[in-house]
Amino acid sequence: MSKPQKILISGAGLVGSLLSVLLGRRGYEVAIFERRPDMRGVEVDSGRSINLALSSRGIHALEQAGLIDDVRKLLIPMRGRALHLSGGGKEFSSYGQREEELIYSVSRRDLNCLMMSAAEEAEPVDILFNQSVEQVDFEKGELAIVDLQNDHSYRRSFDLLIGADGAGSPTRDALLAANGGECSVDFLDHDYKELEIPPLNSEAGGYQIEPEALHIWPRGGYMLIALPNQDGSFTVTLFMPKQGEISFEKLENADQLNAFFEAEFPSAKRLIPDLESDFFANAQGRLGTVRCSKWYYQDKALILGDASHAIVPFHGQGMNSGFEDCSELIRLLDKHNDDWSVVLPEFDRIRRPNANAIADMALENYVTMRESVTDSKFQLKKELGFELERRFPDRFVPRYSMVMFHLLPYASAMTRGNVQQEILSELVQGVDELSKVDLEKAERLVRDKLPVVDLSRPY
Ligand SMILES: Cc1cc2nc3c(=O)[nH]c(=O)nc-3n(C[C@H](O)[C@H](O)[C@H](O)COP(=O)(O)OP(=O)(O)OC[C@H]3O[C@@H](n4cnc5c(N)ncnc54)[C@H](O)[C@@H]3O)c2cc1C
Repeated sequence: MSKPQKILISGAGLVGSLLSVLLGRRGYEVAIFERRPDMRGVEVDSGRSINLALSSRGIHALEQAGLIDDVRKLLIPMRGRALHLSGGGKEFSSYGQREEELIYSVSRRDLNCLMMSAAEEAEPVDILFNQSVEQVDFEKGELAIVDLQNDHSYRRSFDLLIGADGAGSPTRDALLAANGGECSVDFLDHDYKELEIPPLNSEAGGYQIEPEALHIWPRGGYMLIALPNQDGSFTVTLFMPKQGEISFEKLENADQLNAFFEAEFPSAKRLIPDLESDFFANAQGRLGTVRCSKWYYQDKALILGDASHAIVPFHGQGMNSGFEDCSELIRLLDKHNDDWSVVLPEFDRIRRPNANAIADMALENYVTMRESVTDSKFQLKKELGFELERRFPDRFVPRYSMVMFHLLPYASAMTRGNVQQEILSELVQGVDELSKVDLEKAERLVRDKLPVVDLSRPY
C-alpha cells in the first residue's frame, strides 16, 4: 500500500483535528475516534491548560490549513514577560525586538472546536465522539474500539492509522509492542495546578493586569505564571515540586495555602479571590517528556504530537511542535507524491531529532523562567544578544527567537543557540553593562563561529 484509501485517526485533540483538516483537503477519507464527548456541545474538561501560547510554527501550520484568519479572532498578543519580583517590584522584558515578534494566548477549547468544525464542514472527515481506541491489530489492519456512550465494543478496519492520542497514547503502546524498540516517559518532579484571576468586571470584562504579556512570578525553585483570556480573565498556573520543603504536599489545608501565597505571591493572591476553592478543587497535573525510538509501523501507522513527543510546557512548544509535525507531513506527501511507504520513514528520520531538541530546550527553559530571568547576568546577555542580532541579523538570532518567531529546525536552533551562549558568556566576563562589551571581539567571534543562517527556509 503506498496511498491509503481509509485513514483512521485516534484522538481529536489539537493535533488530530488539524491533521484531519489537512488530510481531508488532500482528498483522503478520514475518520477520527475521540474518547471524550463533543466539547462543542457540552462542558468538557479539556484535560489541562485552559489557554496556550501559539507561535510561528503553529501559525505556519494553521495558515497552511487555511484556518489562520478565523484563528486570529481568538488570539491575544503577548509582547513579553511581565515579571513580578519578590519584594513587589515589576519589570517588563520583551520577547523580541521587532514589532511582529510576539506570541499569542489562545483558548485550547476554542481552538480545538474551530478546527473540528472546519474538518467536519469543509472536508470528508467524520469525527466520532465517546469512542475509545483500546487495541490495534496491525496485521489485520483493525482497531478495537469501545463505544463509551452505548457501552459496547466493535472493530474497525484501516489502511493507515494515525495516533494523535496524546501523552498516554494507546497507539504508541501498540506500536511499541509491534516494533520493539524503546520508549521512555520521564515525569518531572514538579507538578502544576491551575487557578484564575477573574475579569475586572464580571459583566463588562476588562483586565486586572496588563493583558498583552505573559506574567511570571519567578521564585527560584517554583513559579506562578498567568496568560490572558478573551473574557478579561487570566489563567494562572502554579508550578512547584511535588514534595519537599516548599511543595504541593505541604499545602494540605487553607491555612497553609494562604500563608504560602501571602509570603510568596502576595500581589497575585489579591487578584485570585477563589484561591482556596480553585486550589483544592482543581487537579494537580503531571508534566513529562516522551521519547520513542520509532514513530511508525511499516506503511500502516504513525504517531505524532504528544503521542510521540510530549514535552514539558516551559517553552510553549508542545502544541506548536505537534502542528509543525502536521506541516512537515504534508510537505513530505507533496514531495513523495503521497507514497506513505517513503514518507513515514523520512518523517521519522527528520522529525525525531527536532522533537528531542525541543524537549531538551523546554526542560532548560523551566530554569530560565523560574530563576534566571531575575539574574543581572542573564539580563545583560539578553541585551547583548539583541545588540548582536541588530549588528549581524543573518548570523546571530537569540535562541528564544529562533524557536518562537522562526521556522528553523529545532535541532539547528539548539546547536546555534549553544554556540551563541558560549560567545555571550565570553563577552560578558568581567563586564557589568552593555557599553563595556568589546564589540570588535564580538564581531570576530560571531563571524568565526556562526555561519550565515537562512531564516526564511521553513525546513
Ligand atoms: C500546563 C500545560 C501548558 C501548556 N502550554 C502550552 C503552550 O503554551 N504552548 C504549546 O504549544 N503547548 C502547550 N502545552 C502542550 C500542549 O497542551 C500539547 O502539546 C498538545 O495538547 C498536544 O496535542 P495532541 O493533540 O498531540 O494531544 P492532546 O491535546 O492530549 O489530544 C489527544 C486527544 O486524544 C484523545 N484520546 C486519548 N486517548 C484516546 C483513546 N484511547 N481513544 C480515543 N481518543 C483518545 C484525548 O481525549 C484527546 O482529545 C501545554 C501543556 C500543559 C500540560
